[in-house]
Order: sequence, then structure tokens, then C-alpha cells
Amino acid sequence: MAAVQLSGIFKRYGDTQVVHGIDLDIDDGEFVVLVGPSGCGKSTLMRMVAGLEEISGGDLMIGGTRANALAPQQRNISMVFQSYALYPHLSVYENIAFGPRIRKEASTSFKPRIEAAAKMLNLSSYLDRLPRALSGGQRQRVAMGRAVVREPSLFLFDEPLSNLDAKLRVQMRTEIKALHQRLKNTVIYVTHDQIEAMTMADRIVVMNAGRIEQIGRPLDFYDRPANLFVASFLGSPSMNFAEGVLIGGAAGLALKLVDGSEVTLQQTSVPASVQPGAKITLGVRPEHVEIPAEAAGVSMEVEVVEPTGAETHLYGKIGGSTWCVTTRQRSSIEPGQRVALRLPAEHIHLFDTESGRRLA
Ligand code: ADP
Repeated sequence: MAAVQLSGIFKRYGDTQVVHGIDLDIDDGEFVVLVGPSGCGKSTLMRMVAGLEEISGGDLMIGGTRANALAPQQRNISMVFQSYALYPHLSVYENIAFGPRIRKEASTSFKPRIEAAAKMLNLSSYLDRLPRALSGGQRQRVAMGRAVVREPSLFLFDEPLSNLDAKLRVQMRTEIKALHQRLKNTVIYVTHDQIEAMTMADRIVVMNAGRIEQIGRPLDFYDRPANLFVASFLGSPSMNFAEGVLIGGAAGLALKLVDGSEVTLQQTSVPASVQPGAKITLGVRPEHVEIPAEAAGVSMEVEVVEPTGAETHLYGKIGGSTWCVTTRQRSSIEPGQRVALRLPAEHIHLFDTESGRRLA
């Protein structure tokens, strides 16, 4: 087991810097998910931790030891990639045994480990099979078995579920989480899938353009996204936004949206330093928007109705932006109909439009 500390880690390819000074402390046994759009530097960061990519600057500590200059095999890390990279001509057993054999371990020493890993991963009856006779999920499990028998102090997963179909992805997600609960090892897991991040992580690190945007527990992101980027990235369907200008009056503060409608704001949700005239972006999650029986401050012409069974998504435009409203009630609302919307004050998020930062 190992704690991992990254201090001021950066990466340069020639003149181009792609990772800009990452500071991150990962506790022993913690499951940390790095999430962010494609090209934000997740894999580069992971590969630097693994030793597959040189670190241009900063300090990497694994289990209290500076690891910048250690070769990958000296770091006591196991890595599972998107491509399982199994040897097609070797049986499941031999694929899992490959690492110990290369290290010239005695088979009496690693056989029990392989059998235990196979049992844990439901592979015991497939040990003699070749990879081509396995399903995608089983192959992914063999790749995990290979990682597990090394008994590493740190597991790195780089988009391990991307090649699986949707149903299998959900199943493997649960299996990886269960595996972590059993082994209690430290895990760094890279994905661009925010649902994977939300469901698996002890802590999520949201990255964008080589920087960390926010670090926190999954529900912190849902309840208090630090900025517009994080607010729009996490949540499905994603948060609705409307730009407006703060106005003050006898009735209190309100946000005047581009289309002229006004949303009343709680005095306490707007810091005193933010004065009328300030450009503010309001955010509210689809599941928090209510559809009251009578007219409210905001209304939306419904363009698309999407029933999913458990809930219905209504799409339309507010202040020029597409909004989604999720209702759990069976509704008879039809496209073309105008519906009143209530935005509960306790569920409204406010951001400075220019900087994107959350207003306290
Ligand atoms: P992610 O894993 O988040 O999709 P990557 O870590 O793969 O992102 O890439 C981050 C950035 O670094 C991208 O802009 C990518 O083009 C760039 N990059 C990655 N590898 C190299 C390389 N070998 N040479 C130059 N640029 C690279």
C-alpha cells in the first residue's frame, strides 16, 4: 500500500507544456479518479506516475520515496489499460502468470496467488482457455488478474472500460469497486466518463487543459461545483445555464436574463461585493427545476419530449440556451407547449460570467 504525493508536477513536450504544476495528495488506500475532457492531460499525468513518461519538473513521492527517477518496475505499480494487451497464444493462467515468470519467481510461490485472483475475478473455470475464447468482460478481468497477482502498492487504471459495451461497463464498474473494497489498495483511475467518476471515486480530480479545476468528493461536485467548467462537466443531463445581469429593487435581488425574464435570488446567495449590474450566470440542474401549475418567473416552450421510463426530459430554450427539465411524473406535455418553470432558490448556483468562478 502506498500514499502518493504530486507536488508541482509539470510536463513539456519540446516547447509545449501540457501539464501545468499539479499538486495532489492521495491517501493510502484511496480510490482517486482523474476525469476531464479528451486531451486535458489525464493519461500524461498517469504515465508520469507509472514511469512510462519522463517528469519534466516537480516531485513525485510514492510510499514516502521520491520516485521521479525510478524505473517503472521499481515503483511497485500495476497498470490496466484500455487495450487489455493479453498474449493471444497464452492461456488465461499463463497470461496472469506472465509477470511472476519473467521475474523468475518459483511457480509454487505464485500459483496460489493466481488461483486466489482467478477465484476473486470469477475466472477459475477459464484458466485453460485462450483469450480469443473469452468475452470482452472476461478478457478485461484477465488483465485485472495480471495486475492483482503483482500485489502492487498502487493500481493505475487508464480508461479500462472504454472498449466494453454499456451494460458490461456498468457491471465491471461494480466489480472494480468491489475489488478495491476487498484489497484496500491505492487506486488512480483515469476516465473521461463522469458517471464512472461519480460512482467509483472516493475523491474526484477534475482536470482541464493540463490543470486541476476542482478536487473533492463526488457529491461535493454535485452540490457545489467550483466553477462553470466543473458545473457543466459533471451531471447527466448536465446543468442548465442562463446568463443575466444582477438587478436590485424593493423586492430584493433578481437576475434579469437575456430574454427579459427575471429570476428572484436569495439575498444570501449573492456576496455583498457583487453589485447590481454584475454579469452573472445562473445554473440549475434539470432535476431541480419544478413545473408549477400557475405562471412563475420563467417559462419555456417545450421543443422535445424524451420519456426514459423512470423520468421524462423536456428540452427547450431559456435566454438563448438549451435547457433540460427532468420530471419524475408522467406528463402529458407536448412539444410546442409553453410551461411555467420554478427555480427553487436553494438549488440555484451562481457564477461570475467572466471568470466562471462560483459566487460564494
Ligand atoms: P487525455 O489523457 O486527457 O486525453 P493526454 O494526456 O493524452 O490527454 O494528452 C494531453 C496533451 O498532451 C494533448 O494535447 C496531447 O496532444 C499532448 N501530447 C500527448 N502526448 C504527446 C507527445 N508525445 N508529444 C506531444 N504532445 C503530446
